[in-house]
Amino acid sequence: MIYLDNAATTRPYDEVIDLFDNLCKNSYFNPSAIYNEAFDLAKQIDEARGFFLRAFHADIDKDKVIFTSGATESNNIAIFGSTFNKKGKYLFSSGEHPAVFNCAMNLKMQGYDVDFIPLSHNGEVDYDKLAKMCDSNVCFVSIMLVSNETGAINDIEKVSRIIKTASPRCILHIDAVQGFGKIDINVKKWGVDLMSLSSHKIGGLKGCGALYISSRVNLKTTIFGGGQEYNLRSGTVNAPAILSFRLASEISLDNMKQNFDKVQQLKQYLLDKIKNNNNITVVSSDSASPYIVSLLFRGNRGETIQRYLNSKGILVSTGSACSSRKMGNRILQSMGYNNTDIIGALRVSFYSNNTTSDIDALCQELDNYSTNINA
Ligand code: PLP
Repeated sequence: MIYLDNAATTRPYDEVIDLFDNLCKNSYFNPSAIYNEAFDLAKQIDEARGFFLRAFHADIDKDKVIFTSGATESNNIAIFGSTFNKKGKYLFSSGEHPAVFNCAMNLKMQGYDVDFIPLSHNGEVDYDKLAKMCDSNVCFVSIMLVSNETGAINDIEKVSRIIKTASPRCILHIDAVQGFGKIDINVKKWGVDLMSLSSHKIGGLKGCGALYISSRVNLKTTIFGGGQEYNLRSGTVNAPAILSFRLASEISLDNMKQNFDKVQQLKQYLLDKIKNNNNITVVSSDSASPYIVSLLFRGNRGETIQRYLNSKGILVSTGSACSSRKMGNRILQSMGYNNTDIIGALRVSFYSNNTTSDIDALCQELDNYSTNINA
């Protein structure tokens, strides 16, 4: 099997599985309990908070990290926890994952003033249009760091400058799921107030994520219960998953530069191999994350190609896993592609364990597919 759907999820590192296994067998205590075994676990979780804060250059004395069940929950806590101002304007990029987009739609339904920032043709937000939309009434902006569909990387420092010039008290949230562990993140330099992360996109386990909260921000509680995670995310703390998330992040960050270079070469290798195929349009721009390559196959259905590749043991996607069963693709639409182009969309996403022979196999099967349908 050749796995090229790493934006949907990654294979957990062996070390991560071993640690999780060991913790489940030997350290299964509730970290909120009041005996030494639980204190020890709670201490390790607090050390993990410090690790994450240092990893993205936050203020380790003042800022917070809370652990959640994944980035979907982190996004919900960040967005609904920031809804203090019913008269303020809430802006979301048009490229957001459903885990943000559907929060925005829900706010709109509740009567909040919600608007969507258009995308440029390269998949980044349109910075000029953002500047025009921003005024002193803007109180919350959510923009993803790296698009899960196209790999487009938004210039968060620029976004922050634009919105905070217009509205200094505005809160900036970023969904950094597809960027953390792959590109360097500096929340202080970039002016980020809230940031969502997920473990399973970087060799960790599913069902674990984090939310960074700058000391500038006071979130409303949206999940009530025993008061865990600074009273922002009640529920028994999932110590094995959190400590495994820390380990997956450590491995990813220690190897970030070499993995990036390797994946960049894989992307280039793929693009070189398909460059003479006039039926393929490459959506992902040169400045996009090399981990995600979005392609449009003219005159073909992405879904049919995806199924053909699947029958040959090659796993790719037609779009984000959470939305791939839904019709259309609102992100490619906002980048200006028409429905005829969009129907042929296929997403190939790499991780550091992929090789050029995976790409050779993919390209060979794409050729076989074209030969079959033209025969
Ligand atoms: N945000 C982005 C950009 C994603 O790619 C994903 C996963 O596909 C999510 C959020 C949801 O993350 P989780 O599965 O941890 O809830």
